[in-house]
Order: sequence, then structure tokens, then C-alpha cells
Amino acid sequence: SSNPFSATDQPRYRPVARVPVQIGKRRRRIVVTGGAGFVGSHLVDKLIARGDDVIVIDNFFTGRRENVVHHFGNPRFELIRHDVVEPILLEVDQIYHLACPASPVHYKYNPIKTIKTNVMGTLNMLGLAKRIGARFLLTSTSEVYGDPLEHPQKETYWGHVNPIGVRSCYDEGKRTAETLAMDYHRGAGVEVRIARIFNTYGPRMCLDDGRVVSNFVAQAIRKQPLTVYGDGLQTRSFQYVSDLVDGLVALMEGEHVGPFNLGNPGEFTMLELAEVVKETIDPSARIEFKANTADDPHKRKPDITKAKELLNWEPKISLREGLPRMVSNFRSRILNEDEDKGL
Ligand code: NAD
Ligand code: UDP
Ligand code: UDP
Repeated sequence: SSNPFSATDQPRYRPVARVPVQIGKRRRRIVVTGGAGFVGSHLVDKLIARGDDVIVIDNFFTGRRENVVHHFGNPRFELIRHDVVEPILLEVDQIYHLACPASPVHYKYNPIKTIKTNVMGTLNMLGLAKRIGARFLLTSTSEVYGDPLEHPQKETYWGHVNPIGVRSCYDEGKRTAETLAMDYHRGAGVEVRIARIFNTYGPRMCLDDGRVVSNFVAQAIRKQPLTVYGDGLQTRSFQYVSDLVDGLVALMEGEHVGPFNLGNPGEFTMLELAEVVKETIDPSARIEFKANTADDPHKRKPDITKAKELLNWEPKISLREGLPRMVSNFRSRILNEDEDKGL
């Protein structure tokens, strides 16, 4: 094979002496791709706190060093600037594969790069998992259901997705990533886990990523009108980031491949969300209606029965509890931006 990393050309990686930290339990080495991003950095915090060795792989497209800077200097933490579209050699026990632009603004910015990240990036991480015998977790998305004809969405639903639309680089990309994961599982015996994540919010979300929660919160803090797209009657469910991270770890540690929906089943229209943001930040905030984007799903709400039963997981933090926790983080970041601009 011309591939320098091909399994057939190389001796299979054998673990060498490992340092036990707890009796009967050895320290694990874990890769988090996209670990400098919003979800990834919260996951890294949890893994480091638990006592694992963590390697973050990130190309900083949407991720920021600030999100993981508090781990710099910790010998159990390593940050590698690397693009997952290129192969990489590492020796680890688990791979959390999150690297991928997640918001429409970012994934539409360079759609070819987005589909490459989803397909070639996932292929490389699965090739890595196969070579070293690591367990692999894919963060897929509720967008694999497209504009769903089934409501709420169960994992058995195959979706209603446009293969040639402007969102396809993301939703079809993730569908292909799921296919790759299942084929490496069935064909190469890789232990895989698939999470289908529903809309998630919390501290460290990109400020200007165009997502509805970050937009509304930033707008209310900046005393700008809240921009509601379309009639505002489309629905989403919003999950607080710590609930998601707990779900991802439960899935990785559990015995089930999935896919599993990970989301908060509370369903809100965009107008209702705007009201909660007003209550939390500024009751006098105004609402401004704007034209909606193409292919915008009308409603979305997870059925999480499967995750409850098999992972013993369910979200704990409601929208009214979670929003205030992200507001202080957004306030200080917006304040810093203003200071940088001399405002
Ligand atoms: P994010 O943009 O904050 O994080 C993605 C990270 O991946 C960033 O740090 C980015 O720099 C990095 N990245 C992107 N392309 C890369 C590449 N080619 N090589 C290396 N690194 C790369 O987004 P997030 O919200 O933290 O999302 C994390 C994962 O969860 C994504 O896979 C996303 O599709 C999935 N997801 C998120 C949500 C959500 O609501 N946040 C919903 C569904 C699925
Ligand atoms: N790969 C990688 N690191 C590894 C092993 C593989 O990045 O440690 C990449 C490899 O370059 C290839 C992909 O993962 O592009 C799939 O690898 P696999 O061995 O499954 O396929 P093959 O190399 O046989 O095409
Ligand atoms: N949306 C909105 N105002 C905004 C940004 C988004 O009304 O400022 C709407 C958008 O049209 C969509 C919903 O909020 O119906 C969720 O959009 P987001 O981009 O956050 O997530 P996704 O569409 O990926 O679920």
C-alpha cells in the first residue's frame, strides 16, 4: 500500500508500561478533536478533572486557545494544531471526534472544507482508531433528520434531507460520517459510539456564530433588537452544555453503539425563546422580524427514550436555569471586545 499509515505496513501498536493512578484503574489517554471549540473544551474540562490524559487536536477554525488556556502547563494536557483532513499518528485509548464547524455561518463559509472535514476527517480518525484499537465516538447531529416528517424524532427515523442544498455539506456530511463509523465498526471491528446532538448552548459559544441562542443573548446584552427569522413559530429544543458532556461520556463509557439522541426535549418556538432571553437579560428588549434562510427545519425535538433507558442519562438543566449561566460569560466577553475597540 502507498499509504504510510496503512495497518498492514506497520506493527500493531502495543501498549507499553502504564502508570497506575488509582488502584485497579489506569489513567486513560484520550484525544478530543475540536477540543478547543465550544462543546469540546467543556468535555476536556470534565476529562482532565476526572484524571485522564487529554490530547486536543484543533485547527482553530472556530475554536480558540482561550477555551483551553486554563490547562496550559498541566502535564496531562496537550494541544496540537492540526487539521483532521490530514492523517495523524498518535497512541491513545479513546477518540472523541468533534472537529467540524457546527453553526450554519461557519459551515457555509467554505462548504467544500466542511464536507472534507466530515468525510476525510472522520475517515482519518477511524483509520487511527482501527490501527491503535481505540474506541471512537462521533458527534453527529440532529440535522441528519433534515426537515423531519416525524415528530419528535426517534433514532429509527431515517430523515428528510436535501442532498444538494446549502446545508448538505453539513447534514449529508454527518450522515456520511455515521456511515463510515458503522462500516469501520462492522468491517474492521472498531468500537464506535454515535451521538446525535440537538441544539446546545452555554458559556464559550462563539459570539457571532449566528446561532439563535448566541444571537439573542448577545443582542440583548448589546441593547440591540432580537432578530427573529420568519414568523418565529419554528421550534427547537435547547440543551445546556454540561448535560451534553455528561451524555457524551456516558455513551463513550457504555456498551451501546447507538446512535443516541442527546438533547433536551423541552420544545420552544423562537418567539418563546426571545421571551425567556428578555426575562433573563432585559425585559425592554425589542423583537425584529427578518426573512428566514432556505431549508430551515420547521420543528425539532428529540425523543430521548433510548438514551434514558440504555445510558441512564437525561438532561437536568432547564432553559431558564441554563441561560443565566451563559450570560455572565457573554457579558465579560462582549465587554472585552468593546474595550479592544476603545468603546
Ligand atoms: P465549535 O465550532 O465550537 O467546535 C468545533 C471545533 O472543531 C472548533 O474548535 C474548530 O476549530 C475545530 N475544527 C473544525 N474543523 C476542523 C478541522 N478540519 N481540523 C481540526 N479541527 C477542526 O462547535 P461545537 O458546537 O463545539 O460542535 C462540536 C461538535 O458537535 C461538532 O462536530 C458539531 O457538528 C457537533 N454538534 C454541535 C451542536 C451544537 O448545538 N453545538 C449540535 C449538533 C452537533
Ligand atoms: N490514518 C491516520 N492515522 C493512523 C492510521 C490511519 O490518520 O494512525 C488515516 C490514513 O491515512 C487513511 C485513513 O486514516 O487515510 C483510513 O485508514 P485505513 O487504514 O482504514 O485505510 P487505508 O489506509 O487502508 O486506506
Ligand atoms: N434564528 C432566529 N434568529 C436568529 C438566528 C436563528 O430566529 O438570530 C432561527 C433560525 O431560523 C432557526 C432557529 O432559530 O429556525 C435555530 O437556528 P440555529 O442556527 O440556532 O440552529 P439550527 O437551525 O441549526 O437548529
